[in-house]
Amino acid sequence: MRLVVDLNRCQGYAQCAFLAPDVFTMHGDEALMYDPLADDTQRENVRRAADACPVKAITLDYEDQGAADGKAGASRVG
Ligand code: SF4
Repeated sequence: MRLVVDLNRCQGYAQCAFLAPDVFTMHGDEALMYDPLADDTQRENVRRAADACPVKAITLDYEDQGAADGKAGASRVG
């Protein structure tokens, strides 16, 4: 999966680093580092992080999932 963080919007609240620590890490008070090609196993954590971001700076791209109402077999949690 791919993700993008709008670092102009990001205020360093670190909600994402708390919810998906394997993908997002804080360096210092406000510098956010993240993996733009996060492993698929992180999808749910990243989704939670995106939902929790107070400024909605995280955009997800489920390119491997096909159409929105598609065929992906995994059942959703939450
Ligand atoms: S939760 Fe949002 S504002 Fe906070 S560090 Fe992550 S991307 Fe930035």
